[in-house]
Order: sequence, then C-alpha cells, then structure tokens
Amino acid sequence: MVCSIKYDLPTHRLFPPKHKKVIEAERTISRAVSNPRERLSIAVHEASHALVFRKFGIGVRYGGPEINHDCPTDIYSVTYGTAQVRDKDYLRLAENPENFARVLVAGAVAERVLMGHAIPSCSDFEDFLRFAKRKSTADIIGIWKAVEEDYCRELSRDLNQQREIVHEAEIFHQTIFGIDSSIREVSNSPAREIAAV
Ligand SMILES: [Zn+2]
Repeated sequence: MVCSIKYDLPTHRLFPPKHKKVIEAERTISRAVSNPRERLSIAVHEASHALVFRKFGIGVRYGGPEINHDCPTDIYSVTYGTAQVRDKDYLRLAENPENFARVLVAGAVAERVLMGHAIPSCSDFEDFLRFAKRKSTADIIGIWKAVEEDYCRELSRDLNQQREIVHEAEIFHQTIFGIDSSIREVSNSPAREIAAV
C-alpha cells in the first residue's frame, strides 16, 4: 500500500542521515497502512469526525499520514489520517464544550461500534483538554465521558448513521489510500460488526 507521508519536522531533521526516530515513525505508519483492517479503522475514525464537523456546518478536508516533531519536548509522533478544518472554525466550535466533545469522541466511538475496537489514541482527548473553554479539568472530563457514552449508545442503535459513516469512510479511503474493496464487505454486513462490540 503506497501513500505519501507528510513530514512536519524541523528542516535540519530532513537531511540525511535520517534520524532513527523518523525511520521508526515511517515503519509504524507503513505497518498500519499495509493492513487492510487498520486502514479501514483509520478511514472510519476520520470519516466519523468529518461527518460531525459537517453537521455543525464546518467544511472538512482529508489528510493522510504525518510524522510530527514537537521541538520543546523533542518528541516524534505519527498521525495516520486527519480530518482538517480551518483554525477559526475549530476555535469557534471549542467554545461549546458539548459540541466540541461530540466531534472529538466521534472517531473512537465509530471505530468501537463499527470495528469492535478502537486504536488507542489520546490526541483527540488531549485536544479537548487543551482547547475546551472554561470550567475545571474535572468538569471537562465529565463532559467528555457523558458525550462519549451518549454517542456510543446512539450510534449502536442507529443503522442509518452507521451506513453514513461507512459510506464516508469509503470516500476517505479513496482519497488517501486509493480504492479498496474491503470497505464494501463491512458495509454489507453491519449486523456482524455491531455484534462484535
Ligand atoms: Zn481522532
């Protein structure tokens, strides 16, 4: 499976010899995207974020895998896919913690309901802690948990919404990874996928 990786690194890190952390990150990405099920999880996750963004009237563009470097901590991280929105839309959304949480929990919740598991990722929750306005950390965590439980219950019962996510996941997959028939197999058997939860 070929897909391009975006490097968000300081310029000197891009010159050879490649930093061993960059090589490790490239391996992590290629391991994930060469596995059809992982690709499907990534597509379902990002598609679900995108659908909720759109429900709040926010335009979304998909992005593929990225390797990022955080200078202050010197930590390298990988992202398998992104649902990108304008900064001003993101910050406006963050002013309403419930709506903001709904967008951010949507990725992992869709993975759990449709795939039976979610790839552990804390970046959505970290974003929530970082950008959600006002209130104490305890309140913020409480909102996250409540919205997550609600959405999990809602999506588990709502076959139309599940189909919508599968359809959108196919669009993500085609945009980022190319055409793959494995998504169709899931969309034809939602009941089995739900039973796996
Ligand atoms: Zn996410």
